[in-house]
Amino acid sequence: MGLKILFVSAEVSPFFKTGGLADVAGSLPLALKKMGHDVRVVMPEYKLIPEEYRRELKHICHFRTILSWRNEYIGVNTINHRGLDYYFIDNKSFFYQDNIYESDARHVQYALFCKAVLDMLPYIDFKPHIIHCNDWHTGPLCLYLKELYNNDFYRDIRTVFTIHNLKYQGQFGTEIIEDVLGLNFYEHYNRGDIIHNGLVNYMKMGIIFSDMVTSVSKSYVEEIRTPYFGEGLDYAIRMRGENVYGILNGLDYEEYNPGNDCDIYHNYDSSNTEGKLINKKRLQEELNLKLDAEQPLVGLISRFYEQKGLDLIMAVMDEIMTLNIQFVVLGTGEAKYENFFREYGLRYPDRISANIRYDHSLAKKIYAGSDLFLVPSRFEPCGLTQLISLRYGSIPIVRETGGLRDTIQPYNEYTGEGNGFSFRNYNAHDMLYTIRRAVDIYRNKDIWRTLVIRGMESDFSWDKSAGEYIALYSGLVN
Ligand code: ADP
Repeated sequence: MGLKILFVSAEVSPFFKTGGLADVAGSLPLALKKMGHDVRVVMPEYKLIPEEYRRELKHICHFRTILSWRNEYIGVNTINHRGLDYYFIDNKSFFYQDNIYESDARHVQYALFCKAVLDMLPYIDFKPHIIHCNDWHTGPLCLYLKELYNNDFYRDIRTVFTIHNLKYQGQFGTEIIEDVLGLNFYEHYNRGDIIHNGLVNYMKMGIIFSDMVTSVSKSYVEEIRTPYFGEGLDYAIRMRGENVYGILNGLDYEEYNPGNDCDIYHNYDSSNTEGKLINKKRLQEELNLKLDAEQPLVGLISRFYEQKGLDLIMAVMDEIMTLNIQFVVLGTGEAKYENFFREYGLRYPDRISANIRYDHSLAKKIYAGSDLFLVPSRFEPCGLTQLISLRYGSIPIVRETGGLRDTIQPYNEYTGEGNGFSFRNYNAHDMLYTIRRAVDIYRNKDIWRTLVIRGMESDFSWDKSAGEYIALYSGLVN
């Protein structure tokens, strides 16, 4: 049966991206559509959406959404991109801002977004079988649909709520229950269904009120059932029992394709891996590193937050630099990490390049020009950077957690199996030992070529995972 699916996300590539959620929202719906389903995507209309897309937006309807005492104008604008319809929820006072995720009004922004999405459906004449919600921004939608929208139009709609990162939960004071969410304070305070640790918790709403919860790898789903990884919400995850399901993220193999990627210096594929060397040389030139084909070049592209394991790197950076490698870093985030990499970039100007910014095009150049790619995360729900690096023939060194554990098998010298390097404990010297081992193996050109080709030819596209989502949706509809 052809399903109607509405995919709801706070960020969608290429319109607005800060991390992996945007990659997923920009590629999974396309994969579902390719399988013959009617899929549409909706996100807020932010100021930061590039002009090239903003120009193309067509206004289709407007109405007012009631949020507690607020009565807000909502415009719905649309664009067809790569054959898919995207809807943008327009409200200038809440979405037209510079640092959208840092706004003090986030609790209103995303409650309004959720309600506006539900209000929009009759106007655009689209009654989905499934509304697929993503991360805390969309938790209130699951709650509203169950509690407030139970007339004929909405009654049969089912929700899937995907946790991309349990750490970010959207927690706000309980005064917002009435003042923002427009719900009865005592009813919800007593039931405890939207409150955690004395605060209203949007992530918990998604977990409790959706029909099915998913997360982005099987290992992460197991991990978040435990207090260590559960970010305080492990009890809520356990409460949903078998209704929490792990489906590994895929990668958009059209967007990330070294064979025709316009962002990289020179296109190549697995039958012509020498092309990587040209990318390495040009990257070294552009970043003022020593031109040296033999020195292994290690890439790191990351948000700079504790989750990403950067403390391990800080602990042994001097020892890492004794390994005769080059290190190219790209990222932004907490000042202590930014300053650390900046300082090391100055200390080793011909071997370390610290690029403290968000730069999509440079990211691609690093995937293409690096030999090794470091992802030492403390936890990692799925992780896309290790998948992108494999696709570009840069061999990942990862910590065995979450999706990193599910996608990277350590290279085994005896059997020749494996597609990367990994270490189990969150320990800087275990990481150092693993980098050293990878660098040693890099010196064996035959083994290395095999690893590069194996990485580039492995399949982490959406084909398999999109099928798993369809099976899951179908189970909810029947
Ligand atoms: P997370 O969602 O936790 O940030 P993922 O590995 O799932 O981590 O996804 C990160 C995505 O963001 C990848 O596509 C990566 O290339 C991209 N990315 C992260 N930081 C930067 C940056 N500074 N510049 C460009 N792209 C970045």
